[in-house]
This record gives sequence, C-alpha cells and structure tokens, in this order.
Amino acid sequence: MESGAYDVAIIGGGIIGLSTAMQLRRRHPGWRVAVLEKEEELAAHQTGHNSGVIHSGIYYRPGSHKARFCVDGVRSLLQFCDENEIEYQQCGKVIVATDESELGRLDDLFQRGVANGVEGLEMIGPERLKEVEPHVVGIRALLAPTTGIIDYRKVASAYAMRFQEAGGDIFLGARLRGIKRSTGSLALDTTSGTLETRHLINCAGLYADRVAEMMGENTGIRIIPFRGEYYTLTPESRHLVNGLIYPVPDPRFPFLGVHYTRNIHGEVEAGPNAVLALKREGYRKSDVDLAESWGTFTYPGFWKMSMKHWRTGIGEIHRSYSKRVFVNDLRRLLPEIQAQDLVPGGSGVRAQAVSSSGAVLDDFSIIQGREAVHVLNAPSPGATSSIAIGEHIADLAAEAFGAPD
Ligand SMILES: Cc1cc2nc3c(=O)[nH]c(=O)nc-3n(C[C@H](O)[C@H](O)[C@H](O)COP(=O)(O)OP(=O)(O)OC[C@H]3O[C@@H](n4cnc5c(N)ncnc54)[C@H](O)[C@@H]3O)c2cc1C
Repeated sequence: MESGAYDVAIIGGGIIGLSTAMQLRRRHPGWRVAVLEKEEELAAHQTGHNSGVIHSGIYYRPGSHKARFCVDGVRSLLQFCDENEIEYQQCGKVIVATDESELGRLDDLFQRGVANGVEGLEMIGPERLKEVEPHVVGIRALLAPTTGIIDYRKVASAYAMRFQEAGGDIFLGARLRGIKRSTGSLALDTTSGTLETRHLINCAGLYADRVAEMMGENTGIRIIPFRGEYYTLTPESRHLVNGLIYPVPDPRFPFLGVHYTRNIHGEVEAGPNAVLALKREGYRKSDVDLAESWGTFTYPGFWKMSMKHWRTGIGEIHRSYSKRVFVNDLRRLLPEIQAQDLVPGGSGVRAQAVSSSGAVLDDFSIIQGREAVHVLNAPSPGATSSIAIGEHIADLAAEAFGAPD
C-alpha cells in the first residue's frame, strides 16, 4: 500500500463509495482521495447482489432523502450510462392490486409518485394490464413506464474507472481493522498496511456501524443483516414475465414484497423474502458467524424490533424453508406459475440499520462526525440514487473538511 498521506479515505468499494470517490475528484480536484475495499474485487456485496432495478421514485415519502435522491439519481444515472455506453432498458413496471383492500394503498402510491415528479405514471384496469403483462391477474395496477433494469456491477466499475482516470487510488484486499488518531491525521490500520489520511468517509455497507465505532462515533444504530432469497424462472417459463411485476407493498415494512424482475441478461427472478442472516455476508442459510450473531442477539434494538414484527418474521422464515408457500405467494400475481417453473436462484444481504429503540430506519441516513462522514443506512433505491448520494456526500465533505492543506 502506498504510504503517502491522503486528504480523504473512503472505506468501501460498493456503488456508494465509488460514486462518492468519483464526485470528490470531480468537485475537489486538489484532494488526494483513496478507496479501501476489503475484498479482492469491487461491488462484491450489496451492489453485486441486488435486483438491478432502476427505480423511478414512486414509493417514497415526498420530501424524504429517498424521494429526492431517487428522482434526481435516475436522471444522472441514465445520463452517465449514455455517456459511458452502459446498457440499460426502461422495460416498465406494474404494481398490481389483487383485491379491493389494496386499492386505497395503490391510490396513495400513485399520489406519492406524482408528488415526487415521476413521469408517465398511469393507473390501469385489468384490460390494459393484460396488454402490458398478459399473464398477470389483478383488479387495478399502477404502470410506471420509465422504471428500468441494469447491471449495477458495471455501473460501479465505470465509476471506479472515472475516479482512477481523475487521479484517485483504489486499494483492494485492504480491510480496515482499526484507527489511530494523532493531531490532524488518522492512521488507518488495514490488512494491507497503514494508510494516513486527514478525513474518512464511511461507505462500508454491512459494516458501516463497525467503522463508525472505530471512529469513536456513538450512532445509536446497529446494522442487522437480512438475507433476501430468490428463485429463478426456468428458461421455458420466462415468457410469463415481460418486465417488472410487483405487489402493493405493506407500508409497515421497508421491503417491497415478493415480486418478479426480468434482469438485463434476460433471466427472470422471483422473490425475495427477508430473513435474519446469522452472518453479515451470509448468502446461504448455512452461513453462521457466532460473534456477529451474538452482536445481533445482544442488541436491545433487535428484540424491540422483533416484538413489533414477530408475526411477519415467522411468515418469512416459513416461506424461506417452504417452496410451496413461496409459490403460493407468487401465484397471487401470476396464477399460472408452478413449482417446477422455479429453480433456486441467488441471494443478497441487506444492511438494515435498526435504532436502539427497535425502529427500522427507512430513509437514507448520512451523518457528519468527527473528521468523517458516515453512510449508516443506504437501502434500496441506493444503487439507483448512487450519483445523487455521491454528490450529496461530496458537498457534506467540502463543508465539513474544508480545503486541503
Ligand atoms: C437484495 C437487494 C436488492 C436490492 N435491489 C436494488 C435495486 O433493484 N435497485 C436499487 O436501486 N437498489 C437496490 N438495492 C440497494 C442497493 O443495492 C444498495 O443501496 C447499494 O448497493 C449500497 O451500496 P453500498 O456501497 O453502500 O454497499 P455495498 O455494496 O455493500 O458496499 C460496501 C463495501 O464496503 C466494503 N467494506 C465493508 N467493511 C469494510 C472494511 N472494514 N474495510 C474495507 N472495506 C469494507 C464491503 O466489502 C463492500 O464492498 C438492493 C439491495 C439488496 C441487498
């Protein structure tokens, strides 16, 4: 590892860390910036395991960070992709109400989307729904024609290239394991050596709370990992899905419910569920890390959250172990789907910030600390919003860190 001193070190080579790095070099060319990533490749965790959807901004409370960053982020992301020849498709999405009790919530979503400035939204009936998604059955649906699909690994890798071309450094295989402070400087102890920096930006995703602790921050949150498991439709049954098909979400939870997503490579995924992961980067049911599980189970916020949501939690575990239950849920939207149409697919682990009172943080949470900015919660639509978030962090950093020496 190069030993020279940096103005800013970014911890985490996911899409948020890399977008932030690109924006910092663009806006503050005088700053020496490094990205430290513990894996041997970039985008190995949430960014490389997500659904690949370019969200349009329907779901989010008007005025929230999610609403603002998503709507601004889509515009910037599409422009970036056009300039960098990254493939994407605006295949459109339907959010489908299957019974009367969901109509009020569907209407609320329409109003929210309009208030957030999402273009082209249309409420459609069963006949129009049949034209858009011939195999889906619903009594009404919200059509979002601009929602799209993309490979976010490619986007992250393009951010990294732009950053390096602008003079930034990326260190792979460099896990941050401790920080020593001295006047005006931080010595970052990593698995690849020590790196001196004046400031730090924490984009460590599933370990963002740990990195904040290393900086001495008392954030009042803990990252609880939730694994989302998917099935993949067999090639013979892919024709059942044209684009993106979602249920009307339950507003009490930050997840969107099991849905169908066609990805940019032509495969169709169905899921995910949301089960507690016993390891922060535990992509299989059998992955367990005793120390990390202990950290979850001894956190009072985890138990307070579980008391509120235990019924849903049990339902999700049941669905995780029973394909029959999973298929039944999926059939609500697509009655033709059969168990033999689905084979086990991939999984992703969400970094969900939970407060000590058991509240599940819904919005992005980005705080300014001592000599640092911390991204404590970056759930979906974090990848869609990545450029807008990177710009926001670059502004915060300029305000907090001042000019380079
Ligand atoms: C299952 C799933 C589906 C999703 N679907 C979508 C979607 O369709 N559309 C959308 O817009 N968003 C989606 N999201 C959200 C989106 O993927 C995230 O908001 C985004 O990837 C977060 O990026 P990140 O850089 O913060 O985190 P990550 O991609 O997790 O990156 C954090 C990086 O930090 C590194 N790191 C951690 N600790 C250290 C350390 N101590 N030292 C060095 N490096 C460290 C990790 O190795 C990792 O590479 C989804 C998320 C999940 C989990």
